[in-house]
Amino acid sequence: MATERPGNSSAKAGDGGRVVRPRGSAFCLCCGALKEAPEARCPQCGFEPASPDEYARSLVLCEDFQLDSAELPLDAEALDRLREKIVAKVPIEWDEAMLADVKSHVEEMERFSKWSLPLLLGGLGVLVAGAAVLVRAIFF
Ligand SMILES: [Zn+2]
Repeated sequence: MATERPGNSSAKAGDGGRVVRPRGSAFCLCCGALKEAPEARCPQCGFEPASPDEYARSLVLCEDFQLDSAELPLDAEALDRLREKIVAKVPIEWDEAMLADVKSHVEEMERFSKWSLPLLLGGLGVLVAGAAVLVRAIFF
């Protein structure tokens, strides 16, 4: 048996040099092709989730997205079924409550990443200022 590895040409840089995290299988919302991350552009049809709704659906289709409150990720069987529907162009009956849950989770994460850095820097500033005051109080 030949043990040749399938094409190792993953050196295709994404748009703007975005770091592609090592992910398991996510697949395209549009054509069902496998891709490396839910937010990635589909290598097959070029579809890229743009709206929060499309992004939430892409996350549901990802094996590695974990959200306990929405019972995600789905098991492999359920993901396979969804993928088959997409490939066959059968409309999927999305669980709207689940999608809403995923969307609010994503919004929360975005808020967090927007605020965590300034907060961290602010905290550091306070710490440094406090240390300076302390040093001055001790030595002068
Ligand atoms: Zn696609």
